[in-house]
Amino acid sequence: MKITSSEFVISNQDVKRCPDSKLAEYAFIGRSNVGKSSLINMLTNKKSLAKTSGRPGKTQLINHFLINKSWHLVDLPGYGYARVSKTSKAKFQKFITNYFKQRRQLVCAFVLVDVRHEPQPIDTEFMEWLGENGIPFGIVFTKADKLKPNALERNVELYKKQLLDGVWEEVPPYFVTSSSHGNGKEELLNYIGEINDN
Ligand code: GDP
Repeated sequence: MKITSSEFVISNQDVKRCPDSKLAEYAFIGRSNVGKSSLINMLTNKKSLAKTSGRPGKTQLINHFLINKSWHLVDLPGYGYARVSKTSKAKFQKFITNYFKQRRQLVCAFVLVDVRHEPQPIDTEFMEWLGENGIPFGIVFTKADKLKPNALERNVELYKKQLLDGVWEEVPPYFVTSSSHGNGKEELLNYIGEINDN
């Protein structure tokens, strides 16, 4: 699938105010600074559809984008940014869990993880929570260009192994991407395209 049109629709902090639409949606979430905005911009061929932020964790909004006039890409706030206060963390968790639990249009969540790091509890616990709540998800490894091919492969294998040693019986679908080099773009978009066509 190629993205030929992408438009911003609405931002909010309340799942009830998300677009009143039956279109399927695919959500992107991950730790602040993981490369989510860069990935969304790469996927949509836009320089700044999603705002790459110098101040991670600042804007905590559910952002809907209409893609190819046929599905919604949802940019969710980055989690785990130390400088966010406890109160706003709690508020964040609430509106984000509400989104996942209530949004019937959600088809698949993509959890972004920086391929340079080993699995962090904040990410794996979030994946477990998605699993417990029956929300299909895939893993998007980001910043693949920052590692040499051998190290990249080793890290992906380590990540898979740790998931299998944990609660998972099989590794969720995963994609190795680089927003600066374009890696993984086709695979990820084709995956969404295939689910969307069925
Ligand atoms: P977000 O906070 O998750 O939206 O992350 P951003 O997209 O703003 O990216 C955070 C930082 O990582 C920025 O300095 C980006 O330029 C950098 N970055 C994001 N994706 C990549 C990538 O694929 N390769 C490299 N080398 N840097 C990246």
